[in-house]
Amino acid sequence: MVAVIAIDGPSGSGKSTVARLVAEKQGWFYLNTGAMYRAVGLYLADNDIPCDNTEVTDKVLESVDVNFGADGRILLNSEDVSDRILTPEAARHASDYSKLSAVRQLMTALQRKIGLSRPSVVEGRDIGTVVFPDADHKFFIVASPEERARRRYIQLKEKDPKTTITIEGILREQKERDQQDAERSLAPLKQAKDAILVETTEKTIDEVVEEILARL
Ligand code: C5P
Repeated sequence: MVAVIAIDGPSGSGKSTVARLVAEKQGWFYLNTGAMYRAVGLYLADNDIPCDNTEVTDKVLESVDVNFGADGRILLNSEDVSDRILTPEAARHASDYSKLSAVRQLMTALQRKIGLSRPSVVEGRDIGTVVFPDADHKFFIVASPEERARRRYIQLKEKDPKTTITIEGILREQKERDQQDAERSLAPLKQAKDAILVETTEKTIDEVVEEILARL
């Protein structure tokens, strides 16, 4: 098998930034699977397709093409949706539609195909448990809910200084999404038995990256 580093964790744990930097240091591909679920979620919500196993079928998903372009931009049917997927609304759609079996099957197959085409750092919720259970290295990244919300707030404020979003609002949404992701029956958010737990609340991004690189 081609080398894979699996990095899982809840929203705002810092796993995207950490995974991207680890991939850069290794000279490997960075695969953000959350971005893929966000892109599919956008497609289904844009087309008013109800979030239901009987509505979201393989047939419906035949019209969805999710791909990565230059610089890791995410493409939905050739349209660059890298900015659109960053909103709290897109996160909610991703969490809602990612519960469905047809969506998970399609995304899991695509993630395996992309991840196995070259050495990759793959980041998500179920990478170490379902997508790449035989990954060479597995990490599960956590931080306190307050710290995760604070990080997300700073990120959203940087993107849009006029945003009216509050830390309390983020905390509320984050709690709902974590619960939905952890309690769903298919590929729930869960630490793999053989994953190394990395607690990041009191650490800088660089410290976390160093910690991971030291364990490889
Ligand atoms: O990581 P991110 O916050 O972008 O993920 C958005 C949503 O996509 C998650 O809340 C989760 O519901 C879903 N997801 C998933 N499996 C993954 C990655 C993301 O179900 N491997």
